[in-house]
Amino acid sequence: MSMTTTKGGKGKSNGQAKAGVMRSPVFAEVGLPPDPDNLYTQTVDVMLHAAELLGVPHEVQIILAQPKNEIMVHFPVRMDNGDYRLFKGYRVQHNNALGPYKGGLRFHPHVHLDDVKSLALLMTMKCALVRLPFGGGKGGVKCDPYSMSPAELMRVTRRFCAAISHAIGPDYDIPAPDVGTNAQVMAWFADTYESLTDSNRSSWDALRVVTGKPVEVGGSLGREKATGQGVVDVCVELLPEMGINVKGMRFSVLGFGNVGSWTARIFQDLGAKLVAVMDHTGGIRNDGGIDAHALAGYVAKNGGVDGFEKVQAVTGSGNKKGQGATKISANEFYSTPVDVLVPAALEQMIKPDQAKIINAKVVAEGANAPTTPAGDRVLMDRGIEIIPAILANSGGVTVSYFEWVQNKSCTTWSVEKVDAELNRLMVAAATRTKMARKKYNTDMRSAAYIAALEQIGKVYAVRGIFP
Ligand code: NAD
Repeated sequence: MSMTTTKGGKGKSNGQAKAGVMRSPVFAEVGLPPDPDNLYTQTVDVMLHAAELLGVPHEVQIILAQPKNEIMVHFPVRMDNGDYRLFKGYRVQHNNALGPYKGGLRFHPHVHLDDVKSLALLMTMKCALVRLPFGGGKGGVKCDPYSMSPAELMRVTRRFCAAISHAIGPDYDIPAPDVGTNAQVMAWFADTYESLTDSNRSSWDALRVVTGKPVEVGGSLGREKATGQGVVDVCVELLPEMGINVKGMRFSVLGFGNVGSWTARIFQDLGAKLVAVMDHTGGIRNDGGIDAHALAGYVAKNGGVDGFEKVQAVTGSGNKKGQGATKISANEFYSTPVDVLVPAALEQMIKPDQAKIINAKVVAEGANAPTTPAGDRVLMDRGIEIIPAILANSGGVTVSYFEWVQNKSCTTWSVEKVDAELNRLMVAAATRTKMARKKYNTDMRSAAYIAALEQIGKVYAVRGIFP
C-alpha cells in the first residue's frame, strides 16, 4: 500500500488533508467510489490512513469502511394547514463492536445519506477515543425545523420515531440531539418510543432510548453545555503546549448555537476574550470583547447574532461589552486576528478561500468535519494547528453516556460530579492523542484516529468476527 507516513508539528501534515489521498484498495473492495468531494469518502480516507499507520488488520479496515446498517424511511405528516407532506429520514448504524450505536439526530434541509454516514463513522471514532462502551450511529430528517410550528415539529418527531422504532432501543441504538434538534425533541421522541414498545419494560427504562433529554424526564445535569465544556477542557489541556494561555487569549466562534455559545461562555469565564462571532444571520467583532453570556441571551431571543452590535449589554467588568461591536462580513470574520478559532456551525465551511485568510494559531473543531480536505491542506501549509473534532467535541457524547448510566442505575449525579468525570475523560483522551502523535510522529488528526482505532482493534482481536 502506498501510504505516505506524515510528520507531526506545525506546517508538516494533517491527517484529513493528506490522509491516504484515497489510494487505499479498500475503497474498491467495499464498493466506495473514491470521490474527493464526498464527505463520507473523505472521512473513510482519514480513518484508513490512520489504520495503515497503526497496522489495523485488513478485515477490520473493510468492516469500518462501510456502516453496518443504513436505514432510510419516508413518512407522511399532517401540517397545520391540513395538507400532508412526505418526509425523508435516515438512521445509520456504523459500528457496534464497542457497545450500542450512539449518535445524534439532525433536522436540517440538507440532511443527506452520505453526510449522515460520515457523522456516524465519526461517532464510532469518538466513542472509541474516549473509551466509552458505545459504537457509532447518526440520523436525521430532511426538513427545516425553523419553518415549522412546534406542533408540526412534534408530529414530525413522533412519526420519525415510529418509523425507526423497530431499529433502535435503549440497549441497541440511542439517539441524541444534534443540529436542529434539542431536549424538547428528545422528550417527544422518548415519549413516542415508550408508548410504542413493550409494556413490560418500565416507562423510565424505555426513556433511555435517547439522551439529551430535559432533566424532568431523566436528562443529566450538565448535558446541555457538555460539548462546549469538553472543547474547553481539551483546549485547557493542549493549548499551553502550543504556547497559548487560556487566560487572556483572544478567540472567535463560527456558529453560536449549542456548541459555539457554551464554548464561548465557558472560555470567557476562564478569562479568555471573545472578539468575533459569525452565524447564519451575520457576523460581529469587538476587540474590546463581546460578552458571550449577553450574546447567548440575545441569540436565544432573536434567533441569531445579527443586530447584537446595537445592544448595549453592560457587564460587571466595567467594559461595556456589546458596545462598540461592529457588523462584519464573512471574510472579515475569518481574518480577525485570534489565538483560537472555534468552528461550531456546520460541516465543510472552511474551504481553501477561508483557510487562506484565517488569522489564528489554532483551530479547535467544535463542529464535526468543519474543514474540507483542501481547506485543511491550506491550514497545514500555513502552520495552523488543528485540534480535531473527534477529540474536541467528544464532551457531548461523554455526558450522554453519563445520562444513560444514571438512567440505567436510577441515580442522579450533581453537576459537579458530571463536570469532574467529563474533565477526567477529556484529559485522558487528549493525553492518548498526544501519546499517539509522538509515537507515530504524525499530525493531531491522525493521532486521534490512531488512539481510537487502537481500542477498536483490541476489541475485534478478542471478540473475533462471527462466525
Ligand atoms: P445548533 O443548531 O445549536 O447551532 C448551529 C449553529 O450554526 C447556529 O448558530 C447557526 O446559526 C450556525 N450556522 C448554520 N449555518 C451557518 C452558516 N452558513 N454560516 C454561519 N453559521 C451557520 O447546532 P450544535 O448542536 O451547536 O452543533 C454544531 C456542530 O457541532 C455540528 O457540526 C454538530 O454535529 C456538532 N456537534 C454537536 C454536539 C452537541 O452536543 N450539540 C456534539 C458534538 C458535535
